[in-house]
Amino acid sequence: MKVVTVVAAAIIDAEDQILVTQRAPGAALAGLWEFPGGKIEPGETPEAALVRELREELDIAVTPEALAPLGFVSHAYSGFHLVLLLYLCRDWAGTPRGMEGQPLRRVTIDTLAGLPMPPADLPLVGTLRARLKTS
Ligand code: C5P
Repeated sequence: MKVVTVVAAAIIDAEDQILVTQRAPGAALAGLWEFPGGKIEPGETPEAALVRELREELDIAVTPEALAPLGFVSHAYSGFHLVLLLYLCRDWAGTPRGMEGQPLRRVTIDTLAGLPMPPADLPLVGTLRARLKTS
């Protein structure tokens, strides 16, 4: 079975609002809201991949030191297996914008829990909720 490793970020502002992006029409899981990120390239560390993806997708600058591991999901999709690593990010430079035309939203954890998300992302919403309670 093919394994795809994706790294994503819960980007959280001072009001505990979480940035999510909508998957493009025509793509796999089109229209669903997700934690922004992307595939780890061969030889890349997860943090370096996430720094790259956030620059490419959202035009924001993040340092590896600003990324804290939050949890991961290992999810069987039909045709491949996804390992999704989620990091917490509260510190970045620049104003996020959808560089590939993808819509962005900033939502509370309660709103996030009601948004349609890819099945792999769903368990991480609970992980994030637990973390927000304690921070
Ligand atoms: O974003 P990309 O299409 O490169 O991601 C590869 C696959 O990983 C997607 O087809 C999707 O099934 C899955 N994915 C996910 N949750 C994310 C990002 C990607 O389930 N946050």
